[in-house]
Amino acid sequence: MQGLLPEKIEMSSLAETAGKRTMRLHTITLGCQMSAADGAEMSGPLYKRGFSAADSPQNADAILINTCTVRQHAEDRAVSLIGSLKPWKNEDPNRVLIVTGCAAERLGEWIRKKFPHVDLIVGAKSIEQFPEIVEETLNRRFDALSENREAFGACPGADAGLDKELFSSPVLGATAPGAPVADFVTIMRGCNYSCSYCIVPLVRGREHYRPVEDILEEARRKTAAGVKEITLLGQTVNSYSSTREGRKINFSGLLELVDQTPRLQRLRFMSPHPYYVDDRMIGAIARLRTVCELLHLPVQSGSDRLLKLMRRNYTRDSYLQKVEKIRRAIAGVAISTDFIVGFPSETEEEFAQTLSLVEILRPVCAYCFKYSPRESTESAAWPDDVPVRVKEERLERLNKLVDSMTATALQEQIGKTLEVLSEQSNFGRTRDGFKVKWNAPAPIGERLPVKITAAAPRILLGETADEI
Ligand code: SAH
Ligand code: SF4
Repeated sequence: MQGLLPEKIEMSSLAETAGKRTMRLHTITLGCQMSAADGAEMSGPLYKRGFSAADSPQNADAILINTCTVRQHAEDRAVSLIGSLKPWKNEDPNRVLIVTGCAAERLGEWIRKKFPHVDLIVGAKSIEQFPEIVEETLNRRFDALSENREAFGACPGADAGLDKELFSSPVLGATAPGAPVADFVTIMRGCNYSCSYCIVPLVRGREHYRPVEDILEEARRKTAAGVKEITLLGQTVNSYSSTREGRKINFSGLLELVDQTPRLQRLRFMSPHPYYVDDRMIGAIARLRTVCELLHLPVQSGSDRLLKLMRRNYTRDSYLQKVEKIRRAIAGVAISTDFIVGFPSETEEEFAQTLSLVEILRPVCAYCFKYSPRESTESAAWPDDVPVRVKEERLERLNKLVDSMTATALQEQIGKTLEVLSEQSNFGRTRDGFKVKWNAPAPIGERLPVKITAAAPRILLGETADEI
């Protein structure tokens, strides 16, 4: 990291920072919810250090970009964003640009050389060391503790012990100011699978699980601060495994414990791997008060040959059988999923099997992606032989079919009165994940009965009602 940082800032501007306003941080997250949660966690130490939130890059003294590399498109966006911030940095060299996450892990050296205006690069495997890394950087930048005390004296708990206490706490669970209604809690990092197309294990490493107590403590802290809905996050969230007081705790056991969190209204998780869906997990979802009736269960393809090539560890039938079990056990459960189209050697017939799986699965929503070869993955060595035009055409057909399923699911809600958790005064979500807008303003963070009167393309419209 040495040599990457601009010269120390002038004492006068630091005093101005202390006297007039705190430093302002703008966090930009590219990619999945896991990446959004990582971005929030990494912003935590900066907020604790006295930064406040900036509403736009232009108003920020520091920008943290948490990048994604899962598909080439995501990486291209990250690179172009970093490049576009050169004038922002040139306007005031005291500004700090931090690039983190999966693309930073993969392209760190290259970014360092190509974009000298980046101050700090922290790859996805080092997220847990982020507090120490950023401390070192900012201390060099702001001449360590003496100046910290002056510049950040206004922040609660700021004293000689501030930095030690602050940065020795684990990054996982660091808190940004202001509690949202719905928030994330990361329960594991990395992935032990090696799906042939996927770069995640290469940039994030193998699975490691957060201790149960840390997870429960973060959930309690968040709900005490006003969070009503928690989504547990992991790449294969349901392979979670840990011990507590000598007892083995798997994912279902963890759901049971988090469900007990005081004031928690809703519990979700993302993304379960179909292989680890078992009777105990289905039972826990069906039984537990807070666990919501929406399951995002990525399937990727409807063809057994492709599922094998992808190394997904399930077949079309075993996947659909699990979904059947889930539907039998959990009344009104909504299923969403992910697909990849144009995987190497995918034939028209195999793609048709994906379409037929959609007809059987009836997902409320699906994220559909064109196959994107990622360097050093197994499938990157295979010919990317489905022409771009064909990939695009398949993607369009698949999206059209999925959109029709979404539209049907939305239409089916009309006339029902549903429990909506308000995230804004007239916007919220149902337990099964539908977005809802309603007529009259309501308090934020409340569960409201809303009578659904109409469906727009991706959202339900309704009126607040007296009861469900
Ligand atoms: N851990 C999750 C998925 C994480 S990546 C799981 O296994 O289900 C999110 C989604 O990105 C994947 O479900 C897949 O649909 C898509 N994806 C991953 N790698 C891809 C690639 N190389 N090309 C296209 N889509 C990809
Ligand atoms: Fe990637 Fe497969 Fe792991 Fe999901 S399970 S993160 S797709 S390797």
